[in-house]
Amino acid sequence: MPELPELLAANERYAASFTKGGLPMPPARHVAVLACMDARLHPEKFLGLEEGDAHVIRNAGGRASDDALRSLIISYKLLGTREFVVIHHTDCGMLTFSNDQIREMLKNDTGADASAIDFLPFSDLEASVREDVQTIRSSPLIPDDITVTGFVFDVKTGRLSEVS
Ligand SMILES: [Zn+2]
Repeated sequence: MPELPELLAANERYAASFTKGGLPMPPARHVAVLACMDARLHPEKFLGLEEGDAHVIRNAGGRASDDALRSLIISYKLLGTREFVVIHHTDCGMLTFSNDQIREMLKNDTGADASAIDFLPFSDLEASVREDVQTIRSSPLIPDDITVTGFVFDVKTGRLSEVS
């Protein structure tokens, strides 16, 4: 069943009581979150963020990909964020495949060659958080006074654990 009608009905209800049309563009809490797109993660809810509070950048794995870095750079440089929070999570789908496997699946299904795409899967959850925090910290385009902290979100408990 297509979900679009339900989604649009929900938006009608949201807009009917919407009162936040006057918010400024820069995030009020000066925070940018980079998190996995996993449907079980609801960063705004589990971090207590409201409309206008923070940038929430999401992709498969919450990886510090080139495009995530693009968003983080825009976030601090043009919109004044000062703290970055990286969030990966237990039971992540990115732990379940390799680049070779997904490239093979795509080749079989579409005939197209995906060898130029790094899908950024990982086999060690905490190591992947450290790697992405390090990638962001070491970017010459991101100043050292921006704090970058990494966490694992536990999908069973809803709790964040810092990765040091
Ligand atoms: Zn995930």
